[in-house]
Amino acid sequence: MLELEDALKRILSTIQPLEHETVALTEAADRVLAEPIVSPVDLPRFDNSAMDGYAVRAADLAATRAEAPVSLQVCGKVAAGGVSTDQVKAGTCVRLFTGSPLPEGADAVVMQEDTRPDPSRPDTVWFLQAVRPWENVRLRGEDVKRGTTLVAAGDRLTFGRIGLLAAAGLAGLCVSRQPRVGLLATGSELAESGRSLQPGQIYESNRVMLAGLVRRSGAQAEIFQLVPDTLETTRAALETVLARCDAAITTGGVSVGEFDFVKAAFEQMGGELNFWKVSIKPGKPFVFGRAGGKFLFGLPGNPVSALVTFLLLARPALARMQGASEPGLSQCPGTLTGPLANPVDRRHFMRVVQEPDGRVRPLGAQGSHFLSSIANANGLVDVPPRTSFASGRAVTVLRWDC
Ligand code: AMP
Ligand code: MG
Repeated sequence: MLELEDALKRILSTIQPLEHETVALTEAADRVLAEPIVSPVDLPRFDNSAMDGYAVRAADLAATRAEAPVSLQVCGKVAAGGVSTDQVKAGTCVRLFTGSPLPEGADAVVMQEDTRPDPSRPDTVWFLQAVRPWENVRLRGEDVKRGTTLVAAGDRLTFGRIGLLAAAGLAGLCVSRQPRVGLLATGSELAESGRSLQPGQIYESNRVMLAGLVRRSGAQAEIFQLVPDTLETTRAALETVLARCDAAITTGGVSVGEFDFVKAAFEQMGGELNFWKVSIKPGKPFVFGRAGGKFLFGLPGNPVSALVTFLLLARPALARMQGASEPGLSQCPGTLTGPLANPVDRRHFMRVVQEPDGRVRPLGAQGSHFLSSIANANGLVDVPPRTSFASGRAVTVLRWDC
């Protein structure tokens, strides 16, 4: 049986990033950049005013105090979006607004609130205090210098990065294509939610859960019909999915039961199994295989096992297909508020809730059929084989919600 890290290595060394495509900046949120973006401009683009006020020469106001105000002659006005042609010479100033380009000759901006108009001379303004050189001026390039890398290849386009790229004037971005993932649930006991159940049937719940996780991993998810437990239906379903999608994620049917057909069906359609079984709990039966350039992630059917194996093994694979350099799940430090005990000889990824203040609350029932524990959890704690963690212990939570 493979250790988790070895299984992951096998997956990541088999999968290559998908091809690139160009998308509009407006469509690029959460995509992964395929080529680094070097800034074609300085940001700010030009020296400009941070305030509504007056462009001055700081030296003109060196001796200014509230008791000894100094007046300057207003020799022009520049709105944001305007171009300044006025020169600020000794004894003069230019009316500016936030974002107005700084006129030549000026080296500071005094905010309007620190000035008084002169009722008898409309072209004159009184200044009540001194100003430091470059005060209230946003300097060209102080945020970003032209030629610096704005976003690296492999970075996911967060809203902040999108904003930065928009400010630099970019309109189209080269990103990795999103993987298309087909979701199959196998099991003759499964029924679509909303229908009435026959005796022995249960509602199917893995596909919608996984569809959400797949989309949050930056991939596209497509839900396919339920698959009854026969070799023929399983094979036909896998063929349909892999004809349309880059990967199939199946749940159920990967164990040793006489109704578990995923492995056999995949091999029958020409797929090549890479490994089966990983030494983790929950989720020991997990299948990874490839058929040409397409991949199979065969997750166990129990909802908790499906969730955990998706997070630990399939999610990194989807990130790799997108060329993402991001590491796996966020690792958040916290302190246990109760014990976590793992009596078995495999690592147990136990569901917990991490509170905003960092405390980590174990969720009571850890059986892999307990859906209520998934609903309330936001992370996993990796508890080594035959190990107990006492309340108060510092742990690392693998979070799937951040
Ligand atoms: P299997 O991995 O096929 O042996 O299934 C293990 C357990 O998970 C069985 O109790 C199944 O009924 C249940 N199960 C399998 N697939 C699903 C599903 N898609 N939704 C809910 N429960 C499932
Ligand atoms: Mg089954």
